[in-house]
Amino acid sequence: MFKLIDLPYAQDALEPVISANTLSFHHGKHLQGYVDNLNRLIQGTEYENKPLEEIVKASTGAIFNNAGQILNHNLYFEQFQAPKPAEENLPQGKLAQQIEKQWGSFQAFKTEFETKGATLFGSGWVWLSAQPDGTLVITQEPGANNPITKGLKPILTFDVWEHAYYLDYQNRRPAHLQALWTILNWKVLNDRYNP
Ligand code: MN
Repeated sequence: MFKLIDLPYAQDALEPVISANTLSFHHGKHLQGYVDNLNRLIQGTEYENKPLEEIVKASTGAIFNNAGQILNHNLYFEQFQAPKPAEENLPQGKLAQQIEKQWGSFQAFKTEFETKGATLFGSGWVWLSAQPDGTLVITQEPGANNPITKGLKPILTFDVWEHAYYLDYQNRRPAHLQALWTILNWKVLNDRYNP
């Protein structure tokens, strides 16, 4: 049985970038729904008692969609709450060095990431992931897909499903994406890159 993850911060900790209202629906209703669906769907199947990542890599259809959305949202929610003021909240460690090496600057990296998030058609996720040799790559993943299905290690993600921003930003997806940088926890992200 999978369980809804606890948020590692208070419901209003990400305001005003993500309101407590959005968080309560996104975590308490959407993610809870995916958890309930998956637990029901895997009963009596080969996926019962398998780790989430294995289900995402091996399954298709409704099981894949619900498992993928649980994995995506767990990584999404756990990457937030900046320990520093917005203007000082910058990449750190080996992840910062690799971003600098590949993009030349954090600003150039942000621009590509935001553009890929803003131009993803319909529902999905924009991801920063690592290839096995440590090279970083930004990908657009439709629906419930997660970069682990492509052999990549997922590090950072912005959810561009409308439920992630519509209550706070309505149709202004780019404004929402731009604001998310200020609430990232770069220690969590660097630990994913360089465990
Ligand atoms: Mn979502």
